[in-house]
Amino acid sequence: MILDHYRRPRNKGTLESADAVAEMKNPLCGDEIVIEVAFDGDGVADLRFSGKGCSISQASASMMTQLVKGKSAAEIALLRTRFRDLMLGDLSAVDDATLGSLRSLSGVARFPARVKCALLAWNALENAMSRRG
Ligand code: ZN
Repeated sequence: MILDHYRRPRNKGTLESADAVAEMKNPLCGDEIVIEVAFDGDGVADLRFSGKGCSISQASASMMTQLVKGKSAAEIALLRTRFRDLMLGDLSAVDDATLGSLRSLSGVARFPARVKCALLAWNALENAMSRRG
């Protein structure tokens, strides 16, 4: 699942008219993620990501864009919290179907240095959403 998203990333590229753009880097691993977001009210109507880095950072970004597209800010905040729970080794999050394909990253929790890779796209999204309006 992780390699599939790494090789065939979903929602990779740029938006014609983004409302907010945020870039986030993880210098420990060399990962870079840029998130472009188009808002609909307080939610995310559409988004794209670009960047480079390890398979975990890029696959996590791909999975995240699929999951949050069309969701409200509150729903996205909840997903972000649950994904952080998953990365911190919360076993109940592994069974949380709302996380969708992101659950395939649960093994990353065993490697604290890689958790930053997995959270990079979420931090970029949070940054972009804070620039809304
Ligand atoms: Zn990485």
